[in-house]
Amino acid sequence: MIKLYSSDDTVLIGHLQSVLEEAGITCWIKNRFLAAGIGELPPTAVWPELWLHQESDINQAMTIISPIIKPPAARHSPWQCHCGERLEGQFDCCWQCGRLRPAL
Ligand SMILES: [Zn+2]
Repeated sequence: MIKLYSSDDTVLIGHLQSVLEEAGITCWIKNRFLAAGIGELPPTAVWPELWLHQESDINQAMTIISPIIKPPAARHSPWQCHCGERLEGQFDCCWQCGRLRPAL
């Protein structure tokens, strides 16, 4: 068994478990009900954890959950072009010099 992911968001953890099981990856949630211990234990010690039964599933599981756990929020934050122009996040191209937004 191997720990895949943990979060204080129990809804997210439950969603990830559903998505993985739909893909045929067996997993289970540890600490699902431990949040009641917050205040006496370090907060991260009581976060729900998603564990895989088969370590060999880790790469496939990460591929599946990555788009869910890492929304492309950075794409919507303002950025500064090499020419010095500051641009709002919805723009992928600088209107001053025409350069594309640098890769994140
Ligand atoms: Zn520019």
